[in-house]
Amino acid sequence: MATAMAAVGMLLLRRGRPPPPGLGPGPRRYRYKEKWAATAPRIPPTRLALHHFDVNYSLQLKDQWPSVRAGLLCEQKYGALLNSFSAVHHVAQELELLNATDFVSEGPKKAQPWQRGAAAEEAGREESVSQEGPGEGRTVTQAEMSPPLLASITSNIKCYTFPRGDITRFRPARPDTLGLLDYYLMDAASLLPVLALNVQPDDFVLDLCAAPGGKTLALLQTGLCGHLAANDISISRTKRLYQILHSYIPGEVRETVSVTSCDGRDWGQLEGGTFHKVLVDVPCTTDRHSVMEQDNNIFHKRRTKERQMLPMLQLQLLMAGILATKPGGEVVYSTCSISPLQNEYVIERAVEVAEAQYDIRIHVEDLSHFRTLFQDTFSFFSDCRLGELVLPHLTANFGPMYFCKLRRM
Ligand code: SAM
Repeated sequence: MATAMAAVGMLLLRRGRPPPPGLGPGPRRYRYKEKWAATAPRIPPTRLALHHFDVNYSLQLKDQWPSVRAGLLCEQKYGALLNSFSAVHHVAQELELLNATDFVSEGPKKAQPWQRGAAAEEAGREESVSQEGPGEGRTVTQAEMSPPLLASITSNIKCYTFPRGDITRFRPARPDTLGLLDYYLMDAASLLPVLALNVQPDDFVLDLCAAPGGKTLALLQTGLCGHLAANDISISRTKRLYQILHSYIPGEVRETVSVTSCDGRDWGQLEGGTFHKVLVDVPCTTDRHSVMEQDNNIFHKRRTKERQMLPMLQLQLLMAGILATKPGGEVVYSTCSISPLQNEYVIERAVEVAEAQYDIRIHVEDLSHFRTLFQDTFSFFSDCRLGELVLPHLTANFGPMYFCKLRRM
């Protein structure tokens, strides 16, 4: 017996492993086999996500993190994207009676006096430096033609939200006589990338990662797309996109949309340089989902590799989006994550790769006017270098939503 035990001990030593706990030499009655899978506490992915965010976002957001964290953990706010194709006409009136407002058209109205004030102040400063500076009237006219107001003019999108601090919920959407629903409930911050894309009449638009279709629907609400290509690699999610199109869009308009289920990374090779506008709304850590839902959580242990590879996938998708754009065309990149690794880092790398590997020059467009326009509705992070980031806040619990606009030169 003693010789047999010694032989097992030697074997384990030779393999360089200590005897497993409970299986080492000793009286048989004290031996036990630990069942790690059954007994070791499983950390739920939501807790892992929160821990990960506590470590990383507290460094990035500093004093703001506790407030953003509270927002992430509380019920999110919705916006009601009106369906311009629905025959129900009193919805806007009904929502206004409840004190909701269309944030898309309200933003520019509220920003105008602020802009006039800033322009007048600027003019005053210039006049004090030089008596030949432009007059006040002229300066105000220039301000009125600045990007914020132009952006608002070209948008037909209407999205109602309740004021800051008001957590009223919207009733479920209702069908009209033809069965088209009157509005679509979505995170109102998800509209900002679509507004940033600034679709112009007859633009060919590509929505590279489109399912389940909230932004596709918003793009169609502009009424401006000449053609819309909506793609998503996931066949099951593409089915949801079809359902949304059928529930909101009349047949003749659906004909202008082509839905595909390709790997978006291949798009640039398939249909390079053909689109005026491309939306690249990439898969990401979906921060709000990750701290709230166990199902389909990217922080699940078995998805660690997939999560770590996200910035690479995001970069590849953004590159495909850039290659799909015509010279002079524009790409909007967006995520619903706060992570700089998935946001600004991806943009920086894409600009470098486009130049070095494809000889394509990229200009990162200034979107800071979005902060001025929509500051009443959303809480923006003030320290983004390249794009804009909406942060969750208890009084305006939208986002997170990062968006950045690139022009292919
Ligand atoms: N834009 C959508 C909306 O507003 O409803 C949400 C898009 S979601 C953030 C990201 C999508 O990317 C997922 O539906 C996912 O299936 C898709 N996706 C992931 N990898 C992809 C790939 N390689 N090519 C195309 N789509 C991909």
